[in-house]
Amino acid sequence: MPPAPVTAPQDHADLLVLGAGPAGLGAALLAAGRGARVIVVDQSSQVGGLCVTRHRGALRYDLGGHIPFVNDADRHAWLVGLLGDDLVWVPRPVSSWRDGAIRPGRFLDQRPAGIPRGAPPVDAPEPGLRESARDALAVRFGAQFVDAELRPYLEKIDGVPLERIPGVRPLRLMREQAAPDGFWFPRRGIGQLMDVMARAVTDLGGQLLTETTVVALEVPDDRVGAVVLRHGGGVSRVATRQVIVSAPPGAVARRLVPAPPPDAIPPLRMRAVCIVYFEVARPDVTGEAWVQIDDPRVPAARIFEMPNWSRAMCPEDRSVLGMECYCSPTADDPIWGCSDADLAGRCATALADPLGWVADAGQPRLAEVVRVPAGYPAPDLAQLDAINAAPRLLEGVEGLWLAQGSAVVDAIRAGEDCAAAALAAAR
Ligand SMILES: Cc1cc2nc3c(=O)[nH]c(=O)nc-3n(C[C@H](O)[C@H](O)[C@H](O)COP(=O)(O)OP(=O)(O)OC[C@H]3O[C@@H](n4cnc5c(N)ncnc54)[C@H](O)[C@@H]3O)c2cc1C
Repeated sequence: MPPAPVTAPQDHADLLVLGAGPAGLGAALLAAGRGARVIVVDQSSQVGGLCVTRHRGALRYDLGGHIPFVNDADRHAWLVGLLGDDLVWVPRPVSSWRDGAIRPGRFLDQRPAGIPRGAPPVDAPEPGLRESARDALAVRFGAQFVDAELRPYLEKIDGVPLERIPGVRPLRLMREQAAPDGFWFPRRGIGQLMDVMARAVTDLGGQLLTETTVVALEVPDDRVGAVVLRHGGGVSRVATRQVIVSAPPGAVARRLVPAPPPDAIPPLRMRAVCIVYFEVARPDVTGEAWVQIDDPRVPAARIFEMPNWSRAMCPEDRSVLGMECYCSPTADDPIWGCSDADLAGRCATALADPLGWVADAGQPRLAEVVRVPAGYPAPDLAQLDAINAAPRLLEGVEGLWLAQGSAVVDAIRAGEDCAAAALAAAR
């Protein structure tokens, strides 16, 4: 169970955290554990950010397949400390679907003949900030392999040509988000981890406010002084010298007082995702936890089967498939612009043909379509300066710390690092 909501904040805090997703909760947990007076605020009614678990009758499913990629013993021990026996091992790697068959390993894990899986293929220098994914990958794997094997999937996810995707992005995904043998997972979904973290924060004396928005972030002389919050009980001013930003930087930068010049924070093109959930009257459909699909006939780029992550997610005789359809949140986008019913129809058809996982498109029963309009800023070299504008602005303010991660555990770690730095600075 998540902690009970609080309606009004205390009037001062050692540390105020904006956003209660993995990064914000990671920051708050570390700081509260060190005895700091912490307040966490989130505009949503629920903690967890993108890492929430939804319920529908006896079914539980996550807002997208969310593997907490754990690559070190300390983080594993940390997870065990929070989840105990509810941390389960899922002995299935992410797979990819190609030419009518599922094969082990993500598209990013595939390797040209002669280059072993997982090994760094070419001793190439780290890509420069503006180097494209096409160039960064081609120097490591050869252009022919990249265009045939990696391009279709990466373009399906990010929505721009490989020549415009920053090179650091796929290399980071390769290194940090690999789970070649399987992964650890909370038995009742990724949201369970978030709820447990939130509970630990409040047990340690931290204050957690949901449905709370930032009205102003007062930064006289480029130094954090206070945060004005609107919440269920009205408007409150919280005096603080340290603020961690895990909410989108642009949204926070627009609340700075004094205000930055109007053109200092350009609007960003975002990447969205529509997740179509189906209930199937079988215990297992794919045998897999997560399958990546680059085929353009399938609207989804990733399909996850929740009971193969944890059998506790739905009854023994049923399965839940989530189909992640990446798109732009604009009316002319062929996915976003579709009605829920039309998109679900296209997804159900694809499950029958070409995937062949159900006998006919009428077999899976639609559970829900969830739309996430702002999944992440479109990773496009053409908007790199716009992406970096708000973070630069915030980094110029003393006492403001930016906790940004591109994955669950990465975000938790970023939050913890910021909290440690903020507490050290406050001393
Ligand atoms: C479909 C999908 C699948 C994914 N799969 C994986 C995966 O398998 N493994 C993995 O590691 N990662 C995955 N990710 C990425 C992962 O979800 C993110 O990296 C992680 O959630 C980032 O955590 P965060 O705390 O930085 O941000 P978020 O989770 O986005 O949380 C930010 C919080 O800030 C709040 N907020 C926003 N604006 C404001 C405001 N103005 N004031 C106050 N609060 C605000 C939001 O309500 C939210 O709670 C996936 C993402 C998506 C969309």
